[in-house]
Amino acid sequence: MPRPHSDQRPLVDRFGRIHTDLRLSLTDRCNLRCTYCMPAEGLAWLPREEVLTDDEIVRLVAIATERLGITEVRLTGGEPLVRRGLPALVARLADLPLAPELSLTTNGIGLARCATALREAGLGRVNVSLDTLRPEHFAALTRRDRLPDVLAGLHAARAAGLTPVKVNAVPVRGVNDDEIADLAAFAVEHGYRMRFIESMPLDAQGAWERDRMVTAEEILDRLGARFALVPVGREDNAPAEEWRIAGTDAVVGVIASVTRPFCGGCDRVRLTADGQLRNCLFATEESDLRALLRGGADDTELEAAWRTCLAGKAPGHAIGSAGFRRPDRPMSAIGG
Ligand code: SAM
Ligand code: SF4
Repeated sequence: MPRPHSDQRPLVDRFGRIHTDLRLSLTDRCNLRCTYCMPAEGLAWLPREEVLTDDEIVRLVAIATERLGITEVRLTGGEPLVRRGLPALVARLADLPLAPELSLTTNGIGLARCATALREAGLGRVNVSLDTLRPEHFAALTRRDRLPDVLAGLHAARAAGLTPVKVNAVPVRGVNDDEIADLAAFAVEHGYRMRFIESMPLDAQGAWERDRMVTAEEILDRLGARFALVPVGREDNAPAEEWRIAGTDAVVGVIASVTRPFCGGCDRVRLTADGQLRNCLFATEESDLRALLRGGADDTELEAAWRTCLAGKAPGHAIGSAGFRRPDRPMSAIGG
């Protein structure tokens, strides 16, 4: 069993929160245009030379696991499956001396083709985003006609053993909010774990409005109208509060980032595709690890930058308070 670096110390902030979970964005590009995420025309993508290379990513994850106590790495984006050579990168991360648990958040397009290769490379689990089961709603929400690809990707993930497969849905008022119970029934039928996410003010267009957001309470009302729900609580530091659907083994989760924030138990740190370390989705400052990497910093300097970034973490996101300021980057450029 490989041993951690002799100086491994947890990545702890001034409120005593220990950070073990790294959200690693592999690209800001995407093949969908979800209305709650980005505009129809897309965004000005990062120039390729600004995106971390596989070697740079592997080095940073090695530092994170060996020196900082990171034990889980979730690959995200943008759409992580559009990054070339993803199975090879997964294999390199899975081969690290202190390999983290590896998972992926994806819109599912192209997953049918690569689910087995990703599993064989060392990926453990996937979350697939699926907001609707109706093609016309899918086209309205994502501005693309790709529902069959997503469904195929979802089923391929389960067949490849990337389990438990979680399905993430963002309910949008007047579009798919009448499908909440249908999505849960779909997940029960196929053995997926359904999770509903409150929309957050992280869309690139700045169109989010609190009054239009579908709240956790409404989501639970919709579910409660169809199913008897038995509370099961929250897994350690997990953002989703969970309920079991009575009479089944199925568990459904609600991530109420806005109305029931879970910042007090947050154990996450985020690295953008261009190598900026963020201590929160809503952080307004970043630490430029790419400049350090490319400027010849050694591992000890990179470790120190990581700790300094976490030391500045705020107690919570403060959405709804007078001082709240949206971050400059949208969700797709941070890594959701
Ligand atoms: N493209 C991949 C996907 O859609 O799963 C990974 C990146 S996406 C930014 C990660 C998750 O963030 C998705 O589940 C998506 O639904 C969610 N998301 C995007 N914009 C959001 C917003 N404004 N509020 C809440 N969740 C959002
Ligand atoms: Fe792309 Fe994911 Fe954003 Fe949808 S939510 S536009 S799939 S990055």
